[in-house]
Amino acid sequence: MLSVTRRQFLKLSAAGLGASSLAILGFSPGAVLAEVRQFKLARSSETRNTCPYCSVGCGIIMYSLGDKAKNAPSKIIHIEGDADHPVNRGTLCPKGAGLLDFVYSPNRLMYPEYRAPGSDKFTRISWDEALSKIARLMKDDRDKNFETKNADGATVNRWLSTGFLAASASSNESGYLTHKVVRSLGMLAFDNQARV
Ligand code: SF4
Repeated sequence: MLSVTRRQFLKLSAAGLGASSLAILGFSPGAVLAEVRQFKLARSSETRNTCPYCSVGCGIIMYSLGDKAKNAPSKIIHIEGDADHPVNRGTLCPKGAGLLDFVYSPNRLMYPEYRAPGSDKFTRISWDEALSKIARLMKDDRDKNFETKNADGATVNRWLSTGFLAASASSNESGYLTHKVVRSLGMLAFDNQARV
């Protein structure tokens, strides 16, 4: 049997009386609980983005600590669906809902790596070095393999020996530019992770 001292009894009575009085005044427990998340995010910065996983392209809002000043590195603390986004209206599938783990995954690739021919390991290189290397290899391969005519003599202007993998979650603008670059080079093998 539960035994309660006189002091404990008075405390419990005061707490119960306080809670019921608050409810009478309109401060329902539901409203109080609904405010917890907002309080946690109140001092964070919002950045709109697109979920990178699939071609649905759901809108997300990333909340980060820090005011985006250059000397204050920001840290993402929460990601949720963007209620104003026309695609998902604030909803996210389980993959999108777990995006914070994606951001902080120890396996996440953060910089370019290069594996030299014959080597069994990748080494870190700079973005400049990576882009120069890619451009050089693309130019050499295109010069060597570009076809202006097919076997029947018809003009084809195609480059079949290199393909391009883009991102299905790109914005319309970056998707348009990527498409223009790839097709203007004559490249036909062009795909992304969602196969659209
Ligand atoms: S939240 Fe899910 S459905 Fe939406 S883009 Fe991301 S992976 Fe696709």
